[in-house]
Amino acid sequence: AGSALGVDIGGTNIKWVHRAGAAVVEQGTLPTPAAGPVQIVAAIAELAVARTVEAVGVALPGHLSPDMRSTTTIPNIDGDWQGFPLADLLERATAKPVLLMNDARAFASAELALGSARTHTDVVFMTMGTGIGGAIALGGTVLRGPGDRVGEIGHMAAAPGGDPCGCGARGCLETVAGGRALAARWSRALDSRGQGTQDRSATPEDLVRAARSGDTTALEILGTAATAVGTVLGSVLAQLGLSTVVVGGGVAPAFEVMRPAVVPALGDRRRLIGPVTILAAALGPYAGAMGAALNATAQPLAVPSAR
Ligand code: BGC
Ligand code: ZN
Repeated sequence: AGSALGVDIGGTNIKWVHRAGAAVVEQGTLPTPAAGPVQIVAAIAELAVARTVEAVGVALPGHLSPDMRSTTTIPNIDGDWQGFPLADLLERATAKPVLLMNDARAFASAELALGSARTHTDVVFMTMGTGIGGAIALGGTVLRGPGDRVGEIGHMAAAPGGDPCGCGARGCLETVAGGRALAARWSRALDSRGQGTQDRSATPEDLVRAARSGDTTALEILGTAATAVGTVLGSVLAQLGLSTVVVGGGVAPAFEVMRPAVVPALGDRRRLIGPVTILAAALGPYAGAMGAALNATAQPLAVPSAR
C-alpha cells in the first residue's frame, strides 16, 4: 500500500515517521531549524533522500494556497511563509512527489483511520499545542476545502478585542487557551509573585503541574481557558449537528485538567447537541506525521476498521 515519509512541522520540533504499508518503520524528532522555511526544506530533504520512500507528506501549522503547493499564513512559526513554494522546492530536492496538508487535518485523518475516531464517521477534532488546531469529519472524510482551511477552531472569536493572535486578529481561542498563551499567562503570574525565572520561561506543563497541586491562580488561568474552549466547541457542535469530539496535541494534558469546566461551558446548547462525547486522541505525538504519511501516497491505505 505504498511507503512514505510523513513530516509534521511544529514551532519547536519536526516530527517524522517512515511508513511502509500500515507499519511505522522508523520515527524521530529534530529541532525545527530557526533560520526559516528554506532550512526547513533542507532538513526534510535530508530525511527523505536517506530513506526508501515513494512519497513525502508534510503537515504544517497553518494555511496553504488554493492549489495546496505553497504556504500562506503560518501563525506560530517565524519566517517568510507567505507564498513560499514548499512543495515545488521539496520535490526538486528529493525527486519524490510531495503532498502538503494542514497539521490538524493530518492529525484528524490519522485518528479517523487508525486512532480513537476509527469507529466514528462524524467528528470534530481539536489539537492543543502552541496554537489550537481543528478539523471536521463528515461521513468518514476529513473536510479540507481550498487551501486545507476548513475547521480552524483556534481562530474563532473567544475574547473579542482580546490579546493579539499570530493570525493578525485579536481574541482568538488560541490566545486564551493555546499552549503559548497559557505559558505566557503563567509566566506573568509567576513574575508578579517574584517567582519568575530568568534562565527558563514557563511552559504549559509547569502550569498544569501547578494547577494539579491546587495553585489558585493556575486553576483560574485554566478555568478561563476551559470556559473559552467549551463555549467555542458548543457553537461548533451545534452548528454542525455533531456530538463527538477528539482532543489531542502536546498540550492535551491541560485539556484533561480543564475538562470538568469545559462540559458545563457547552451551555444550554447541549439541548440541541444532545450528550457530548469528548475522547482523548489515541495515536500520540506522531499522529500528525502519520496523517501526512497516510495521505502522501496516491493510493490511500486500506485501513482495517470497525466502521
Ligand atoms: C493554525 C492552524 C493549526 C494550529 C495548530 C493554528 O494557529 O492556524 O492551521 O492547525 O495552529 O498548529
Ligand atoms: Zn487567530
